[in-house]
Amino acid sequence: MGKSEYLNYVNGAWVPSHTEATYTVINPATGGRIAAVPQADVEDTRAAIDAARAAFDKGKWPRMTPGDRSAALFKLANLIEADMDHLAPIEVQNQGKTIKQARDADIPFSVDNLRFMAGAARTLTGLASTEYAYGATSVIRREPIGVVGQITPWNYPFMMAIWKLGPALAAGNTAVLKPASLTPLTTLELGKLVEQSGIPAGVVNLITGPGPVVGNELASSDKVDMVSLTGDTATGKDIMEAAKSNVKKLHLELGGKAPFIVFDDANIAAAAEGAVAASMVNGGQDCTQAARFIVHEKAYKKFEDKFLERLKTVRMGDPLMRATDLGPLVSQKQREKVEKYVEIGEDEGAKLALGGKRPKDKAFAKGWYYEPTAFVDTDPSMRIAREEVFGPVVNVQKFSNEDEAIEAANDTVYGLYSSVWTKDVQRAHRAANALRFGAVEINDHLPLVSEMPHGGYKQSGFGKDLSLFSLEDYTQVKHVFIDLTDQVRKPWHYLTFGDPT
Ligand code: NDP
Repeated sequence: MGKSEYLNYVNGAWVPSHTEATYTVINPATGGRIAAVPQADVEDTRAAIDAARAAFDKGKWPRMTPGDRSAALFKLANLIEADMDHLAPIEVQNQGKTIKQARDADIPFSVDNLRFMAGAARTLTGLASTEYAYGATSVIRREPIGVVGQITPWNYPFMMAIWKLGPALAAGNTAVLKPASLTPLTTLELGKLVEQSGIPAGVVNLITGPGPVVGNELASSDKVDMVSLTGDTATGKDIMEAAKSNVKKLHLELGGKAPFIVFDDANIAAAAEGAVAASMVNGGQDCTQAARFIVHEKAYKKFEDKFLERLKTVRMGDPLMRATDLGPLVSQKQREKVEKYVEIGEDEGAKLALGGKRPKDKAFAKGWYYEPTAFVDTDPSMRIAREEVFGPVVNVQKFSNEDEAIEAANDTVYGLYSSVWTKDVQRAHRAANALRFGAVEINDHLPLVSEMPHGGYKQSGFGKDLSLFSLEDYTQVKHVFIDLTDQVRKPWHYLTFGDPT
C-alpha cells in the first residue's frame, strides 16, 4: 500500500478536515507509517451530522420502498465481495490481524451480514387491527429512528462498520460513522464502495478523528437520534452521560470476559481444540474471547495438558502470510496493557504456564507482538481472572461442582458470551438457563452467523447486533389511531368536560 492520503466521506463528497489537520496511521506489525487521514474536529462532525439530518428529514432514503433500499444494499454487498482481495490486506496492515482472519472470515462474513440485512429490509412490518377500540382502527408502524451516530472499535474495523451500517440503513436511517482512530482505513475504503452503490449523498457519512471529540459530539448532539458504540465499558458510560442531552436511544456493545466451562464428561480433545481458537481469535482482541477456563477438577489435568500443548503450536508471524496464526497486537498501548495485566497476574500469585513475554526473535522487534500466555491454577477472585485484558492471555481455574462453576462464571460485571462443554443434555440446559450472558454456546465457543443475535447482559451493554433483533433496534414503533365513525365518541370519553352530548 502506498502513502496515499485519505479523505472523509461527507454528504457524498470527499473532504479534509476544515482545519486540514491529519494524523498518521501505523502498521502494528512494523511500526511504520501507512497513510494519513483527516483529524476531524467538532465543526467537521457537525457538518457530517447536518448532512445526515438533511438526508433523513428531506432526502429519498427513508422514503424509498424497502425493495429499493434492499436493492441498493445488495449492490453494496456485491461491490464489497468484488473488492475483498483489495480490502483484506489493508485491514491486515492497519489492524495486525492475520490475512486468514480478514480474507476468510471478517470480510466474507460482512458481505453475508449486509445481504442478510438487505433481505430483512423487506420484512420489516407493523400491524393493523380493528380490534383495539370500537369504531376505530389502529395501525402500528415501524419507523426508522432518524440520524444514527455510530462509533466502531479497532478490533474488527470493517466488520463492525457493516454490523452497524447494515441494519441502520436497511431500516431507513441515515448515519454518521466514526471508526476507531487506530484503524480507519477499511472504513474509508468502504466509503468508495458506498459512493459507487448509488446510496444517496448524506445517507452514509464517514469521519475520522478522536473519540472524545468526534465520538462525543455524535453522542451529545441534539441532532442525532441514536448512538451506537462497540468499545470499552468505560466509553459506554461516557456515551450514556453525553447522550442524555436529548435522551437519545443507545445501542452499546461493550467489554467481556467470557467463561468457558468444561465438565468432566466433556469431549476434552474437542474442548482443548476449541479453547485455542476461542482464546487466540484475533490475537485475543475480541469481546467474545474465551478468557476464563473453568474446568472440573477431574478433567483439569487432561484439559490443561492438551490446551497448553496446542497453544504452543500457534504460529506467530507476519500477518500477511497465510501460515500465520497470530499477528501483533493493535498498538503499543494495547501491548502495554497486556503486559501490565501479566504483571498483575504474577503479583497475585497466578502460575504462569506459558508465554508472559514479547517474542525474542528479531523479526518481531518492530511490531507490537506478544506471545500466547496462559496462567493456570488461578483463583476467581484474581484480577487476571476478572478484568478484560484483550490480548492472547488466558487463565485456567478449577471447580468441583456445578453450582460452583456457574457461580464463578457469573461472578463478573460482564455478560456477553459464554460456553459450556458437556455431553449431559440436562446439565447443558440448566447451565444455559443459569448463565447471565447474552449468548451461551454448548460444546463450541465462537460460531456466530448473521441470523444469531449478538449482544450483552449487565455491563457488556444492551441492544443486539446481527439478526432481526438488530434491525428492530434501529426502528421505533408508532401507533396510529383512526376513528372510523365520524361521530362524537363516547365509550372512552370518561374524561368529559362540561356536557359532551
Ligand atoms: P474505546 O472504547 O476507547 O474505543 C472504541 C471507540 O470509541 C473508538 O472509536 C474510540 O475513538 C471511541 N471513543 C473513545 N472515547 C470516546 C468518547 N469519550 N466518546 C465517544 N467515543 C469515544 O476502546 P480503547 O481503544 O481505549 O480500548 C480500551 C479497551 O477497550 C481495550 O483494551 C478492550 O479491553 C476494550 N475494547 C472492547 C471492544 C469490544 O469489542 N467490546 C473493542 C475495543 C476495545 P478513538 O479510537 O478515536 O479513541
